[in-house]
Amino acid sequence: MAKYLFITGGVVSSLGKGITAAAIGSLLRSRGLTIRMMKLDPYLNVDPGTMNPYQHGEVYVTDDGAETDLDLGHYERFTGQPTSQKSNVTAGRIYWDVLQKERKGEYLGKTVQMIPHISNEIKTRIRSLDEPGVDVILCEIGGTVGDIEGLIFLEAIREIGLEEGRDNIAYVHLTYVPYIKAAGEVKTKPTQQSVAKLREIGIQPDVVICRAEVPLSDDVFNKVSMFCNVPINCVIEEQDVEKTIYEVPLTLSEQGLDEIILVNFRLACPPAKLQPWRDVVDAINFPKGDVRIGVVGKYQELQDAYKSIYEALDHGALAHRHKLELVRIASEDIENGKLETLKSVDGILVPGGFGGRGMEGKIKAIEYARIHQVPYFGICLGMQSAVIEFARNVCNLHQANSTEIEPACEHPVICLMEEQKEIEDMGATMRLGAWDCKLEKGTRTYSSYDRVDIRERHRHRYEFNNNYRQQLEEAGLVFAGTTPDGELVEIVEIADHPWFVATQFHPEFKSQPFAPHPLFRDFVGASIKQRTQQKKASKES
Ligand code: GLN
Repeated sequence: MAKYLFITGGVVSSLGKGITAAAIGSLLRSRGLTIRMMKLDPYLNVDPGTMNPYQHGEVYVTDDGAETDLDLGHYERFTGQPTSQKSNVTAGRIYWDVLQKERKGEYLGKTVQMIPHISNEIKTRIRSLDEPGVDVILCEIGGTVGDIEGLIFLEAIREIGLEEGRDNIAYVHLTYVPYIKAAGEVKTKPTQQSVAKLREIGIQPDVVICRAEVPLSDDVFNKVSMFCNVPINCVIEEQDVEKTIYEVPLTLSEQGLDEIILVNFRLACPPAKLQPWRDVVDAINFPKGDVRIGVVGKYQELQDAYKSIYEALDHGALAHRHKLELVRIASEDIENGKLETLKSVDGILVPGGFGGRGMEGKIKAIEYARIHQVPYFGICLGMQSAVIEFARNVCNLHQANSTEIEPACEHPVICLMEEQKEIEDMGATMRLGAWDCKLEKGTRTYSSYDRVDIRERHRHRYEFNNNYRQQLEEAGLVFAGTTPDGELVEIVEIADHPWFVATQFHPEFKSQPFAPHPLFRDFVGASIKQRTQQKKASKES
């Protein structure tokens, strides 16, 4: 039977609760435990699939095709363990299921209520992760304690505490201890109040983690301990990390957090193996050189919209012990003719996306990369844009486009499957989750993966139009990978170029700091080479 660790957040959002949860998960893993991680989101959307990246950041996709909160990406990157459909549940999904059961008469005419019907549904979802061999289930509650929507989730985790018993439960509360400039001191009152709110509904946290911008004095530790009713060794400090989030497991472990949790669970485990984390942090702190990568997208103002791409680029740079300098380029700026930033980068990446805004800018950026021999990595829409660019500018199919952008275009090189084959009733469904792909030997992609059979995650509706395959191939586009039946194009490359690879799938979802994705590793590698050659050339001239 698994133990349960619940992570709640207080005072304000954006404290990095997902990263803290992932870091705790990684510590328990490093002590030899088998864990599962999940996130409960108290909002009413049934899943984050249709939510605007501006509001919510990227949609993370699991192997089994769930469209989830981006925190699951942190869980996978930090712990190396895959998440699934079960790992992200929203309030909307819970209410939806309960109401459907009500309609089917499954409650036998009883009054359906928040407690016990909604709370039971939440508990069932959490417990569904308790499979044989799982030692600890870590469950993060989205939002902030005190939110109206979150209340029923807190009630559910309180009930689980009572049902499972003291030794099988741990509550970790992450709060904020602000520094007030005018007073010249940090304040613990918001933390006290947020813990008071938790206790009001019957949850006494076992550990309070204080996020802070400045080091906390003994006095602050004492106050938090006394007024939140937590032993002093269970008050943990989590300061802003300077360079990398991968420092977080180390700083938490230095303060004994993993040991506190194990003592709480009455578990004895071997010491944590933290050397791999130290090596990662060391490589980030002492790089051999820099590399500048331009990401051309339409959600550039938002830090989190391309989260997994930025992380995977970091991993790629890490593989070469280089520091990544990320240049966010708004595709609409390129559309308006601002090409200067493109000239300053060593590699160009066009990520996934939906809709036509900024599309022409992406195509221009790809044309620049192709002609000026700058390493290019296209992902999903970035692959589709690369095909359009090639069709227009190399094959002279000037009216080439995707039917997503221009439904009646003359050359629909990217379109829905039913548009290619006149299949009826396919309903423009998304290709979601992991699909098998076969690589062509002798291609750049094959040399990166060093094997023929791969499996990568998808999230798109449109596909390469096979009616144009021969024409584009004859003009030099390489089809480096397809689904095993050869039907769906998964990867295109240009051979006569330092590094030009574009994938229909999203490799960024599977990259990890200890196992950088081979395509990100080699794209960054090619960009470093580009930088070195350019430096050499400018010295010579
Ligand atoms: N909008 C494109 C499609 O649906 C690409 C999606 C993506 O980049 N994730 O096919």
